[in-house]
Amino acid sequence: MSEVEWWRLKAAEINSLAARDAVVIVPVGSTEQHGPHLPTQVDSLLVREIALRAARQASRMIPIVVTPTVWSGLAEHHMSLGGTISLDFGTFLALLRCVCRSMVRQGFRRILLLNGHGGNIAALTVVVNELAVELDVPLATTSYWPLASEAFARILERQKTVRHACEAETSMLLAVAPDLVDMGKTADAVGPTSRELAEVVGTDAVHRWRSFKARTTHGAIGDPRTASAEKGERLLKAAADAVSKVVTNGDFWALPS
Ligand SMILES: [Zn+2]
Repeated sequence: MSEVEWWRLKAAEINSLAARDAVVIVPVGSTEQHGPHLPTQVDSLLVREIALRAARQASRMIPIVVTPTVWSGLAEHHMSLGGTISLDFGTFLALLRCVCRSMVRQGFRRILLLNGHGGNIAALTVVVNELAVELDVPLATTSYWPLASEAFARILERQKTVRHACEAETSMLLAVAPDLVDMGKTADAVGPTSRELAEVVGTDAVHRWRSFKARTTHGAIGDPRTASAEKGERLLKAAADAVSKVVTNGDFWALPS
């Protein structure tokens, strides 16, 4: 299997990947509080893991490379709970513009910004709409959990999708870095229920900014008590499969008109 990690490759090897029109995955994470039982690197660690697994799988069919992870994103809503380093949107756009421009200047065209943090979703859609036109390349973004939503719903017991410091994130972390999980504290990280959340958040049709603290006092949403490494391994595999399917789809990368 060929090496897919940018940081492990030499410049000449990266140049040859560009010459072969390799797909680039840029994992975009966050550094923010993740409740009483998980560390602040969860989103960055998991999106990197999924990007590497997907790329290793896809490398059997296409040339592909994974850049170092963007470790900070839009996490202002977590700030009041501590442990959080947030970018503002202008900095986020400027940083990703520089990353993507560097790729394009080296000859890469097909770039996927793979997101691992809910707070980045709206911003990444705007970033891609701006930069795809500006750089004239088929730039794309996705978040791994909506992409693998059907499989995730089948695997999870207490929730349908990824929430925060929840059954899903705790399981995946148990599979990747069990020493970073304090399962003894999961009983303090349960809730709020969907009904309680609906009362705070309201309808999807209206958006207003809310602090995460307004939804949960302990910083988690979901139920991590049923998390397991085995479940985490299945979630990671499902996410990697889904990402690999997108990046190996030639039609997906056809140039925009
Ligand atoms: Zn998270």
